[in-house]
Amino acid sequence: MKAVRNIRLCTKDCLCLFVCPTGATNTDDGQIDASKCLDACRACVDACPSGAISKVPFNFPPQQPKQEAVCAALRALLASKANQEAAMDAVIGSPASPVEAQLARALKESIRIVAEDMLRESGYMLPQSEQARAALRGMLESEQDADFPKDAAEELLRMLES
Ligand code: SF4
Ligand code: SF4
Repeated sequence: MKAVRNIRLCTKDCLCLFVCPTGATNTDDGQIDASKCLDACRACVDACPSGAISKVPFNFPPQQPKQEAVCAALRALLASKANQEAAMDAVIGSPASPVEAQLARALKESIRIVAEDMLRESGYMLPQSEQARAALRGMLESEQDADFPKDAAEELLRMLES
């Protein structure tokens, strides 16, 4: 198990810098150095006042297979979220009032967050997930808008498959 720091929760109080026996928490990029972190230690986790540090497995287990019925339900839910987002875009494009536009923007953001959470929970956003690779392959093999970042998608797929 290795310590990881959630930068968004870190308040820079630096208690972890004082308690770590190996200096693993003291890095230039804010990430804890896994090569120095001791498996059996959790001093920084206990010291952190903001709950920013957790211990996680160094090697994650492989993605578990999913039943087709579950994937189909997820695809249907995501299609519905995409439709809802498009409906909000239409309102934002020609609102009846500034308040309606503001409400539509908030709803659009909320719909997007829910969709992203569903993708994350289902493993699509885990880099080690076959679902993430399959999604990228699917995008590259199907017709896309002119502004689709094909080079970036190909590069990402290469990195995930290597
Ligand atoms: S103890 Fe927690 S809040 Fe303080 S620097 Fe370390 S991770 Fe950040
Ligand atoms: S778990 Fe222990 S060794 Fe690892 S970073 Fe935290 S204080 Fe340092």
